[in-house]
Amino acid sequence: MPTTCVVGILWGDEGKGKVIDYLAADTDYVVRFGGGHNAGHTLVLSSGKLVLHLVPSGIVHSHTTNVIGNGVVVDPIHLCSEIDKLRLRGLDVQLGKNLLLSERAHVILEAHRRQDQWAEALRGSGKIGTTGRGIGPAYSDRCSRVGLRLGDLLRPARLRSALEGLAAQKNAWFVAAGLAPIDVEAVGAELIAAGDRLRPGIVDTGAVLRRAHAAGKRILLEGAQGCLLDLEQGTYPFVTSSHASTGGAFSGTGLPPHLLRVVGIAKAYATRVGEGPFPTELKDDLGNRLRIAGNEFGSTTGRPRRCGWFDTVAVRYSGAISGAGELVLTNLDVLRGFPLKLCIAYKLPDGTTTTELPAFDLDLVQPQLIELPGFDDDLRQVRRFEDLPKNAQAYVQAIEQHTGMSIRTVSVGPERQQVILR
Ligand code: GDP
Repeated sequence: MPTTCVVGILWGDEGKGKVIDYLAADTDYVVRFGGGHNAGHTLVLSSGKLVLHLVPSGIVHSHTTNVIGNGVVVDPIHLCSEIDKLRLRGLDVQLGKNLLLSERAHVILEAHRRQDQWAEALRGSGKIGTTGRGIGPAYSDRCSRVGLRLGDLLRPARLRSALEGLAAQKNAWFVAAGLAPIDVEAVGAELIAAGDRLRPGIVDTGAVLRRAHAAGKRILLEGAQGCLLDLEQGTYPFVTSSHASTGGAFSGTGLPPHLLRVVGIAKAYATRVGEGPFPTELKDDLGNRLRIAGNEFGSTTGRPRRCGWFDTVAVRYSGAISGAGELVLTNLDVLRGFPLKLCIAYKLPDGTTTTELPAFDLDLVQPQLIELPGFDDDLRQVRRFEDLPKNAQAYVQAIEQHTGMSIRTVSVGPERQQVILR
């Protein structure tokens, strides 16, 4: 298997956790390349449900090395508590052995969280729907070149001077905004303590991965969020602050862009959490029914997800920008008893139609829908494509036809074995 990159095709929550868990069974390294602990991957294991926020999903497999790449922003306090929780669940998490952290990954501070929540409150009705965990401000500080990196936590003198620089920049306006200023002493002490705990895991992960790649190891790059939340290619400004599409997999790991297989994960319908345009959204009772049938509530925040029809325009766009020629279709089981509609084009406000995702006014397009016959059967025990009801097969084939992407894997339930390979 070449290096494989798994990306969410729309706005996240496509079931990447389950697919990565499934693929990780044949993988040596599982690598996160972007985002922070705003992500939430849900795995359903024989011991029950497990939600991972920062630690890569391969941690549940004893043979994989899990890497938090340099493109991730890390809240060290959160990471320590996530590791503690995983150990309490009986998982063998060993820093420096099966969990490696990039020394180049940027650090989220408590101050970033305050700044995030303050900025979101100021946006009023134009709010983005951030999880308020400080991820955006940590990335902003990275761009402004005042950020702290995990490696700084192991270098007290550097850490102190970096924190002083950051405090000098931020504290004046923190105070003006009525926010508590950064207390360099207290924050420094907390970070050094976290650094002491994480020390065995903080390494040059780019070098580790390049060596692994050269040695023919199997590497799985795990995208967080989804392509349409990509800072540059997504539905700006309602996007996340990192490169959630495949582009981020290279800058976020230090791996070169060759020999990459990209697998896009899409639900059999569309969901979006938070604000932002969503052309196929169902604002009626059908949307509520879909939310309940699919248990569409955020695994990190519990927020209800907005639900709608499968959007082949948006999926084709994400396939093009991410290089995913292949889709894993999840949650097909959820559509039992629902009408099946696919969006195949958008009508623009000027009356013309397009099959391209517009950069502006996506909230004003009208989805052009086709309807297909539905199915009433329970799919969760089906393991062969030919055993799916004919209408479910036709639905999958129609998605392939309208997206131009092949679907070789269909997920029909949250559990590991609830998968159909074609
Ligand atoms: P991720 O962030 O992309 O991993 O997605 P989430 O974990 O937030 O959401 C996916 C949810 O769908 C989780 O609760 C999964 O257990 C569940 N799930 C994954 N695949 C399927 C499927 O094929 N059918 C059903 N019914 N649930 C699924």
